[in-house]
Amino acid sequence: MEHDRSNTQILGHFIDGKHVADNERTQPVFDPATGLSNKRVSLASATTVEQAIASAQAAFPAWRNTPPLKRARVMSKLKSLLEANAEKICALITAEHGKVTADAMGELTRGIENVEFASYAPQLLKGEHSKNVGPAIDSWSEFQALGVAAGITPFNFPVMVSLWMWPMAVVCGNTFVLKPSERTPSSTLFLAELALEAGLPPGVLNVVNGDKEAVDTLLSDSRVKAVSFVGSTSIAEYIYATGCSHGKRVQALGGAKNFAVVMPDADINNAVSALMGAAYGSCGERCMAIPLVVAIGDEAADAVVAGLKEGIAKMKVGPGNDDRNDMGPLVTKPHFEKVKAFVDAGVAAGAKLVVDGRGVKVDGHEGGYYLGACLFDDVKPGMSIYQEEIFGPVLGVIRAKTLTEAMAMIDAHEYGNGTCLFTRDGEAARFFSDNIQVGMVGINVPLPVPVAYHSFGGWKRSLFGDLHAYGPDSVRFYTKRKTITQRWPSAGVREGAVFSFPTNR
Ligand code: NAD
Repeated sequence: MEHDRSNTQILGHFIDGKHVADNERTQPVFDPATGLSNKRVSLASATTVEQAIASAQAAFPAWRNTPPLKRARVMSKLKSLLEANAEKICALITAEHGKVTADAMGELTRGIENVEFASYAPQLLKGEHSKNVGPAIDSWSEFQALGVAAGITPFNFPVMVSLWMWPMAVVCGNTFVLKPSERTPSSTLFLAELALEAGLPPGVLNVVNGDKEAVDTLLSDSRVKAVSFVGSTSIAEYIYATGCSHGKRVQALGGAKNFAVVMPDADINNAVSALMGAAYGSCGERCMAIPLVVAIGDEAADAVVAGLKEGIAKMKVGPGNDDRNDMGPLVTKPHFEKVKAFVDAGVAAGAKLVVDGRGVKVDGHEGGYYLGACLFDDVKPGMSIYQEEIFGPVLGVIRAKTLTEAMAMIDAHEYGNGTCLFTRDGEAARFFSDNIQVGMVGINVPLPVPVAYHSFGGWKRSLFGDLHAYGPDSVRFYTKRKTITQRWPSAGVREGAVFSFPTNR
């Protein structure tokens, strides 16, 4: 349902340090807690995106030549501004995504850690130097900025995933055009205002809202040298193929279906509480969420199912801005319908629905997109709730006999983002982490999201490209290596023409 258009706020773009309107095409932004909308987001035309790219291109020469320490200091200032505005940022996230405020604060905090890492990045931009690689010849490698880089982000972490990208890109000397999700645009726009306040020159960071038209313009414009994408796998694959065909460097992080494995020797209470947060936190709308758990042996499986059932009975579902709630609504009505249809399909396929969240009602918020926690037992490979990413509060338990059997299931799955093993057995833990075909592994840690000074990325169809997001990999992603070999002719080392390949023989 939409409100009367006369009170509607229209969210535009942020180009060259200013808010820019382009209202030819707009679409509503909903509050998932109520199902109402009093905002619309502009969907940028190709011309508006080109304007943003031109602004970034114009800002590049001066920014590239700004000393790295000065670029990094903007990030120190930004960190303080993000902390000072934390409440406002979290309110903007919750109003469009629906997640509870404590979870929005978790997102912001992890985002700030990336800004903090970026403020130390000059250390990582140091080159490599070798003296006397030949007679009176010195050689060094340096890491030069690429030019204009672009970022395309998903709805589920509008602040954190944005902060995975542009702080490191700009500290490396690039300028940036960011295209946030059209479902959660406000918090990202506010970050751009704060970056300007922190001292980022106009044009170094531009934000364009939009859809496929904006994305396709970024992918095909030759001034854009690199594209970072985070979103679903089908779009990630498209971004990777299209960006690469236009000669760009691309990293495209996609979807996930993360398994936890509970061994019979695990601390079951600890595993159950970890699984509650990992499956139902953020309404399951996290790429590192755990939607499947393989329990080894019926005793462990029965205990896990009983513990989860008990935990779910205590959960409170309601608007994210009410601190008493553990879980908010799903992001949009179509997504709500899609997740509900997965639950229907699980029942039809013969999985046992132990807890059914489909009937949940939140008093006073009847139009909100609320789905209670759902728990399936006896999930089998081949069911859609096993194969596909649901991105909702739906957890399935699979019963297996051995760790080897569980690992074979994980390895056979198309995704390889995150996984976790609950055990007290060090040998099993080491075997699991060493051999499993997944990019991020937790041992008794359900959401092994690497900290800002490591890098984030999955394997298989969870990431297209070579380099992971943020951390040390982002320095390599946002720079290109140049190697310079230098000799200053001097009396002792003059030689005549040499026609053979240079060596040190
Ligand atoms: P999405 O793929 O629908 O959208 C992501 C971005 O792509 C948005 O900015 C959107 O506007 C744009 N987009 C959508 N359709 C497009 C098209 N046809 N052509 C060009 N651009 C298009 O993803 P979402 O629903 O916003 O986010 C949820 C997905 O993101 C889940 O699959 C989740 O697993 C994934 N995700 C992955 C990670 C990770 O690190 N691997 C992190 C967060 C989210």
